Amino acid sequence: MFCNLPKEIKKIQEVRCFLGCEISLVLFSRDSDWAARVVSGAFERISELESVLSKFKQDSDISQLNQVQSGEARVSPHTFKVIEEAASFGSLTNGAFDITSEPLLRLWEGAEERDSLPSKEEIQRALSLVGFGCLELNMGKSVISFAQEGMRVDLGGIGKGYIIDEVVRFLKSCRIPSGLVDAGGDLSAFGENPERGKWIVGLRNPLEPGSLLGYFQIPCGSVVTSGNYMRYFTIQGKQYSHIIDPRTGQPVNEDLLSVTVLAPDTMTADALATSVSVLGVEEGVDLIESRPDTEALIITRQSEKLTILKSSGFPELWGHEN
Ligand code: AMP
Ligand code: MG
Repeated sequence: MFCNLPKEIKKIQEVRCFLGCEISLVLFSRDSDWAARVVSGAFERISELESVLSKFKQDSDISQLNQVQSGEARVSPHTFKVIEEAASFGSLTNGAFDITSEPLLRLWEGAEERDSLPSKEEIQRALSLVGFGCLELNMGKSVISFAQEGMRVDLGGIGKGYIIDEVVRFLKSCRIPSGLVDAGGDLSAFGENPERGKWIVGLRNPLEPGSLLGYFQIPCGSVVTSGNYMRYFTIQGKQYSHIIDPRTGQPVNEDLLSVTVLAPDTMTADALATSVSVLGVEEGVDLIESRPDTEALIITRQSEKLTILKSSGFPELWGHEN
């Protein structure tokens, strides 16, 4: 494979753990000392953003919002922006993508703990607390409120994408001409890859996540995969997806093994990958095809055989058998 880094350009790479995964930063720069300082700054940025956006951090904006008795909380501009964008993906997908699905997620987590499926009544009760339309956004005051008591939000389907984009914005503002931000396989590649021209992305085998099904290349842009294989609920020995359909309260079809979305920015790719997982193959591909700048690759299982389906402009795959 063609691989030729011009002598004056240095490659700086560092891996650290945040957001529950390994984050790898690769920077190409003529000034390696400067790039090393930029890498440290980028990881600080990730840590700061995680501490406001993650529901697993006790003092985050999301934890504050989910605890408020009054049903409203002042949040940072980052949190406001992600919630605003998430609400517009809610509208775009007619509610398939919904960050207020948290009560359903908790219900399924609880079901896993006690090892029995949630009852119809429990699902109805949780569903009555779900609806992105009941989020009230006051931009002037940077305040988010819930129209209904008991509502909660979870940015698990979009937050990582936003953070990756923020890191890329930071790197560009530090005059880094090209690089890669890879958070556990969800990535943004910016600028031209000085080693190969394009960026090569591996496609994971959802049935054997340690191995790859093939490769494709992109000039630059973002790639995000939503998969049922990394995180799931296990109840009475059966695995259920960690993505819940907010219209029914049920986990999405487990035979839809993974959805990989290409988009110009990572937040869009992230939200759309989760959305397509809920919408299913047909409606999901229609949504992707309706947008000129997004593509998707969907892997499904049919009687233990993997089937790969691609939107019309998805790059060519190589190194795979089917
Ligand atoms: P992803 O891996 O990006 O597809 O995100 C999955 C995560 O998003 C889950 O672990 C939940 O935290 C959250 N989530 C689950 N279902 C939905 C949904 N229908 N809409 C938005 N977020 C969801
Ligand atoms: Mg997502």
